[in-house]
Amino acid sequence: MGSDLASSLLCMLSCLGLAACGEKGDDTGAAWDPPAASEDWTRDLLHTALVVDMDSLTGTATITVAASGSTGLSLEVQGLEITAVTAPEGPLNWSVADGRLDVGLPATGSDAVLVVEYGFAAQETFEGWMDRGSTLVWPYFCGNLFPCHSDPADGLSFDLAVQTTTDGNVAVYPETIPADAPSYQIAWAMGSYERLDLGTTAGGVGLEAWYLAGHQDAAVEGTEFLLGAWEWLEATLGPYPYGDRAGSVEVSWGMGAYGGMEHHPLSHIASSAMDSQETQIHEAAHGWFGGGVRIACWEDFVLSEGTVSYLTARALTQVAGDQAGEELWAAYEGDLDYVVAHETIESWPDSCGEVDILQDGLFSLGPYMRGAFFYKAYAEQVGVDALDAALGSFFVDRVGSAATMQELIDHLHLETGVDPMPLAEAWLRSMEDPRETL
Ligand SMILES: [Zn+2]
Repeated sequence: MGSDLASSLLCMLSCLGLAACGEKGDDTGAAWDPPAASEDWTRDLLHTALVVDMDSLTGTATITVAASGSTGLSLEVQGLEITAVTAPEGPLNWSVADGRLDVGLPATGSDAVLVVEYGFAAQETFEGWMDRGSTLVWPYFCGNLFPCHSDPADGLSFDLAVQTTTDGNVAVYPETIPADAPSYQIAWAMGSYERLDLGTTAGGVGLEAWYLAGHQDAAVEGTEFLLGAWEWLEATLGPYPYGDRAGSVEVSWGMGAYGGMEHHPLSHIASSAMDSQETQIHEAAHGWFGGGVRIACWEDFVLSEGTVSYLTARALTQVAGDQAGEELWAAYEGDLDYVVAHETIESWPDSCGEVDILQDGLFSLGPYMRGAFFYKAYAEQVGVDALDAALGSFFVDRVGSAATMQELIDHLHLETGVDPMPLAEAWLRSMEDPRETL
């Protein structure tokens, strides 16, 4: 697909009501002759400025795409109703089929900008905007909320404005994600929010927690060590990449949903976990691993969750004391017991782009706990300080880019002189229990 013929066919289908598409208008002058819509998933998205109206569930996405010789651009829009696609110079040719928006973009030799106007719908599950008051599009549901590439390797920055006129509703969201992030990182929440000021870190990041009315005690308890942990992460790994305002936002995820989501700079934390110091620090640490350095393939999920689970225990030990750290490692140990009894897939599959993180079971405690214990075992070989330093130099080298777990392991080897691969094979590429074999 991708030929002019295919686009023409789609537009003909549109006339029959079978597909949506746009044609350039007649009033744009002879100089404006944009190319036909065509399929191209290789285009690099640089920036998306989103304005969403939560009363009408409509949005405007102004998308900057890196320069290319290609005149095609494809975006995921499976849950959107596209109403217009334009460039600053005039309307663009576009078509929608199979949840995919194809656009024809003039190849100008410089970055291209297009504006997509669309409507979106509320989702009942964690696949977009939820009426219970927040968005969540991890891992690949961004196309239910805005035109996007869900591939975490394609990072981009964001601006966001959320409009609502509902009485008593406060919209909580970052006005910008100033550095490259995976598309699942953007989010917003609406509700009866109140703000808790947590102070400013040594690195100059003002931290805040937003809690739903009546839940202040849980927010205070959960964030007791957040500022200290944040400063430990800054000092150990490097400057926080997502601006000078950050923190956490309580969200009502409903019964049975625990934990949080790394929507940096304002992470979401389920009401039931808002008082969890572990969860608060875990989501914070994703600003460095998972966000700042994002995963190249879903198979590299352990680079995000394993690294962050380890860093959470390290940071908590540093700021809350050895006993708090030992208690967390004991809890991890229990989770690891569950993993080795129930896992269905290795925590670090040896492929890229072949595993469906949801359907194939990779989204499980395995990458979290096997990852944490892999690092713990490696720290026993090289020393915790040497591992901290190597993780920090990797972050500084790679912030703003996508990395594989293999690249991280190779970096650790180079920095410490000790090859982590034997431990990685035992912990991450096996479903045996390394506690019994190592
Ligand atoms: Zn996580």
